[in-house]
Amino acid sequence: MTPSHHPVRDLLLAYAAGTLPEAAGLAVATHLALCPLCRAEVRRLEALGGTLLEQETTAPVSDGLLDAILAQIEEPAPLSLPLLGPKPRASAGSPALPEPLRSYVGGDLDGVQWKPVVRGLDEAPVRVGGAAAADAATGGTRVRLMRVRSGVAMPRHTHHGTEMTLVLAGGFSDQTGHYLRGDFTLTDTSVDHQPTADPDGDCICLAVTDAPLRLTGPLGRLLNPFVRF
Ligand SMILES: [Zn+2]
Repeated sequence: MTPSHHPVRDLLLAYAAGTLPEAAGLAVATHLALCPLCRAEVRRLEALGGTLLEQETTAPVSDGLLDAILAQIEEPAPLSLPLLGPKPRASAGSPALPEPLRSYVGGDLDGVQWKPVVRGLDEAPVRVGGAAAADAATGGTRVRLMRVRSGVAMPRHTHHGTEMTLVLAGGFSDQTGHYLRGDFTLTDTSVDHQPTADPDGDCICLAVTDAPLRLTGPLGRLLNPFVRF
């Protein structure tokens, strides 16, 4: 999977169709709040879906219509969109957390209760679906805010599931590129990277991680304390 600064088209399509789980939907929706390009793409996909729905209510969908719609959907994906490029950092006093994330967090970054993970890295769980979505014991999805101190390099790691990362403040670099506020990455087991926070400020991200069963429990945490980063 090629990392991108935007959600891949399949993710946007699932979002437009309303089929994404809440945690993934939160990550995509928060990216959309910061990315007019992807907002436009989702509107296009929703319009296509609406067209299909209208046809379904009046007549069986013909092969020709399906082909036409699929052909449109096969048009250039978000992967081909230009990078978001330099973005203004959140200025003091302005909200750094866009909706819908802000509501999930219950306020802005200055009210977040950070918990240290390792030196230079703090995290704060984000409640999704009525529970603190950090239930690794069930192999469930974890939703967290992560804060990497300015200039700190995380341990090199791979992923045992998928991880969506959305930069909210500051920036980081890894082998796949440089990411700033609004940039979105989706990494999986094919990605072996070592993110390093930019030197000019703390990097704060939203991370949505699918934790696999085999890595849960005290033993898994003991063997690899960084695996759920
Ligand atoms: Zn985008």
